[in-house]
Amino acid sequence: MKRPAPQKITILGATGSIGCNTLDVIAQLGGRAAFEVEALTGHANIGLLAEQAKAVGARLAVTADEGLYGALKSALAGTGIAVAAGASGLLEAAEREADLVMAAIVGTAGLAPTLAAAARGADIALANKECLVSAGPLFVAAVAEGGGALIPVDSEHSAIFQSFDERQRHAVERLVLTASGGPFRKMSREEMAHVTPERARAHPNWSMGLKISIGSATMFNKALEMVEAHHLFGVAPEAIEVIVHPQSIIHSMVGYSDGSVIAQLGAPDMRTAIGYALAYPRRPALNVERLDFARLARLDFEAPDEVRFPALRLARLSMERGGVQSAVMNAAEEVACAAFVAGRIGFLAMAEVAEAVMDEMTGWPPAETIEAVFAADAEARRRAADRINRLERAA
Ligand code: NAD
Ligand code: MG
Repeated sequence: MKRPAPQKITILGATGSIGCNTLDVIAQLGGRAAFEVEALTGHANIGLLAEQAKAVGARLAVTADEGLYGALKSALAGTGIAVAAGASGLLEAAEREADLVMAAIVGTAGLAPTLAAAARGADIALANKECLVSAGPLFVAAVAEGGGALIPVDSEHSAIFQSFDERQRHAVERLVLTASGGPFRKMSREEMAHVTPERARAHPNWSMGLKISIGSATMFNKALEMVEAHHLFGVAPEAIEVIVHPQSIIHSMVGYSDGSVIAQLGAPDMRTAIGYALAYPRRPALNVERLDFARLARLDFEAPDEVRFPALRLARLSMERGGVQSAVMNAAEEVACAAFVAGRIGFLAMAEVAEAVMDEMTGWPPAETIEAVFAADAEARRRAADRINRLERAA
């Protein structure tokens, strides 16, 4: 894969944590001399989206919220930047000619536009892990048919991508995903029952969006990453391990049949993984913190506790059951996470809701089409919402 310079890039989810870091990396790599920004998308933060679009000279700016079309239009009046909104606007952003699409929308909302970009043959820098969790086989097939590259941005998967030598695929024994353990790594289940959303969103090492921060406290983020790794690398679920590594310095590892383990290390800064995806197959020069091993002194590891963090068990269960179970797990967790953030349910109820909805939907037919994935996703959301209403009434 060789992209022309300047590379044409589109960022889906430009106003989020990954999106803002991507714009920072673009600036570090030479700004307009290195990248032509075709389209940027956002949701509610119109001020930031307009400011970003003007700063990089984007051709198109899109808000996912149709009701904010007018606000975006007036914020960009006189700039010559085209404006669109809603689901069709997101699709237009994805379908416009760009060599590389950064998929950084959060949740299943990113699935349709990312699929469209993949089918068109763009290289995909994938942060939006929910695409692979909900629609793994369909998404991988769309990328293969489109003919573009799929480059992971999730730090664990970027680390594995960098450590996984395709010529040695026959000898790959296991993928080892590292997990920080989140803010409640040492907390008892009894204490967890009473934690507030404010405490759950404060991640010890990484600064990230709301959903992934909560997902880090429950370890649902790691659960999604197990499924993501399974589809990205075509490795069996039994060969995917999780190890808690509180310093987040080793970003993940690949174990081979000769006993060797190859790891990628770095400071916990998403810009390294983003830069790797943007420059691939070259390596960019980035102004990020360098590791000082003498100062680090030690790296710690501990086995994850699946009783306190049932999400890991649910990820394995979803892969064993197959079909739409991973999509169901993700959708139910997304709804439960929003309910927890709104103060409607407790911290432990998030996994309970996800597991109950997964159990209810074990007989659901496997999804052959993306519409079938959306149908299972919608059903899981409806059932999760019902359950949350009942929990709230009982409380
Ligand atoms: P975020 O909440 O900070 O940003 C999400 C982006 O998606 C924003 O631009 C927002 O406007 C947009 N968005 C939100 N709802 C939308 C909707 N309904 N329709 C269209 N767009 C919508 O999230 P983030 O932390 O940047 O995460 C983005 C993705 O990257 C997630 O899938 C996350 O799991 C993954 N990821 C994030 C990090 C990180 O460090 N933040 C690390 C690894 C993977
Ligand atoms: Mg990650």
